[in-house]
Amino acid sequence: MLNVPSQSFPGPSSQQRVASGGRSKVPLKQGRSLMDWIRLTKSGKDLTGLKGRLIEVTEEELKKHNKKDDCWICIRGFVYNVSPYMEYHPGGEDELMRAAGSDGTDLFDQVHRWVNYESMLKECLVGRMAMKPALPKGMLPQSQVTDTLAKEGPSSPSYDWFQTDSLVTIVIYTKQKDINLDSVIVDHRDDSFRAETVIKDYSYLVHVALSHEIQEDFSVLVVENVGKIEIVLKKKENTSWKRLGHPLENHNAFIPKKDTGLFYRKCQLVSKEDVTHDTKLFCLMLPPSTHLQVPAGQHVYLKLPITGTEIVKPYTPVSDSLFSEFKEPVLPNNIYIYFLIKIYPAGFFTPELDQLQIGDYVSVSNPEGNFIISQLQELEDLFLLAAGTGFTPMVKVLNYALTNIPSLRKVKLMFFNKTEDDIIWRSQLEKLAFKDKRFEVEFVLSAPTSEWNGKQGYISPALLSEFLKRSSDTSKVLICLCGPTPFTEQGMKMLHDLNFSKDEIHSFTA
Ligand code: FAD
Ligand code: NAP
Repeated sequence: MLNVPSQSFPGPSSQQRVASGGRSKVPLKQGRSLMDWIRLTKSGKDLTGLKGRLIEVTEEELKKHNKKDDCWICIRGFVYNVSPYMEYHPGGEDELMRAAGSDGTDLFDQVHRWVNYESMLKECLVGRMAMKPALPKGMLPQSQVTDTLAKEGPSSPSYDWFQTDSLVTIVIYTKQKDINLDSVIVDHRDDSFRAETVIKDYSYLVHVALSHEIQEDFSVLVVENVGKIEIVLKKKENTSWKRLGHPLENHNAFIPKKDTGLFYRKCQLVSKEDVTHDTKLFCLMLPPSTHLQVPAGQHVYLKLPITGTEIVKPYTPVSDSLFSEFKEPVLPNNIYIYFLIKIYPAGFFTPELDQLQIGDYVSVSNPEGNFIISQLQELEDLFLLAAGTGFTPMVKVLNYALTNIPSLRKVKLMFFNKTEDDIIWRSQLEKLAFKDKRFEVEFVLSAPTSEWNGKQGYISPALLSEFLKRSSDTSKVLICLCGPTPFTEQGMKMLHDLNFSKDEIHSFTA
């Protein structure tokens, strides 16, 4: 539901729309695009029927608004009248109606918790849910509910802090061994300090308004074998701090990651280079007051204001080249995030992104995604099946595997594109295959010119069974798959039919 920004991509007539079984997405009527919705929200029309008033909504009241022409939905305590939005919803009216007259937060989170509904639906806001009366005896208050949830997952981290004349060190004890610099994301903005430690599907937050000023930059250290994270802040003045600061939202809480909301910081565009006729390498610079490393195989959300509404789309960071792990870094590490992004001239978001000038800002979220790097441990054969920009998650996975997995015997990429001109980083891929004998690449084109003498067509059982040869009968294998949704869905089915197990397949999806 509320799958707003992905709009009706791919287009109705696009190859990407039609899966083998003919599955198609809900077509929107003429005049019901995302841009049309934004226009309507800016028209000054009363979309709630409440003439600009905000009301307190009781559960009984919410339940009454459960019809298409009178449909209220609660998301995270706020109630929206979504009836005017029905025809604009790319997931269709029925999908929205699943939450009619009720709390749709869980349904919303299951589908696209990243969608910026606050901005998209702000003209539909009816009000807040009324506070419930005090809890009856025996029920838990909110703080204890959080603790109870956490007990079902990994055990809760804790934190402490200490100081010298010039430094304040915050120490987070994660009680986990598999912690590294990717596991903690730190942002310091004005006097608000936020450190989010990600442990499996949970987040632990240290979130305070600092009691004194600090300098812009700080350092983050991880003592991996004891799971300790140290964040060293530099005081602006050498005074003794009596306390770290005031607690802010979710401070010292250990909560399911899906309940934390996405956190964004503004990053500056520092370069933009053509890679193919329609795909560019964007380099964004993190602010000095942020520590963020996106783990291999994970994506982030980019957010831009478009005609006054904040629009969000997912993108998968890559390294600056396929050789970045093997050469001296030209630029300091960990400050730059690179993206390979295809610009769709008739798309909603990418033309705006392409319009940005060097020095302009884009908001970048915390990472998301279900690829776990430990899936690569002790791997012998890694097969990558990518179509178009579905190549992006493969970049860091490929770099990581070739650099860090000693058991690895071979990595094979089968890269599906329309024409030779569409192949991203073709010469780098060919050079890498020449340089590292473990790596092989095969290009498959769906609309080649008559000069092409390589493979052609679409993903098929015949192509896959020829390509996916294990180096031995018992070798540990992982097959990663990414591209247009129908490509990925068809590929998954073919792999199951070829008897690869679930544990041997990873598909990248939103
Ligand atoms: P859209 O507005 O979505 O349109 C895309 C195309 O569909 C255009 O050609 C448009 O003309 C056509 N279209 C849309 N609506 C209609 C319609 N009603 N009728 C006819 N045609 C229509 N992309 C990358 O380039 N790099 C990445 O690293 C990357 N990572 C991703 C990671 C994840 C997890 C996911 C889910 C997607 C990722 N994508 C990536 C895709 C990206 O999120 C966007 O979907 C993509 O950039 C298109 O956005 P857009 O708003 O510009 O285009
Ligand atoms: P594209 O150029 O349209 O397609 C790439 C190749 O895949 C072409 O050869 C195309 O053939 C083929 N193809 C398209 N649909 C197919 C289908 N149903 N079955 C078999 N082959 C199919 O691709 P793109 O524009 O770069 O789009 C890339 C897609 O990957 C987007 O949908 C994007 O959202 C997704 N993506 C996902 C992630 C993630 O992590 N989930 C990351 C990056 C990108 P024809 O065009 O000739 O039909």
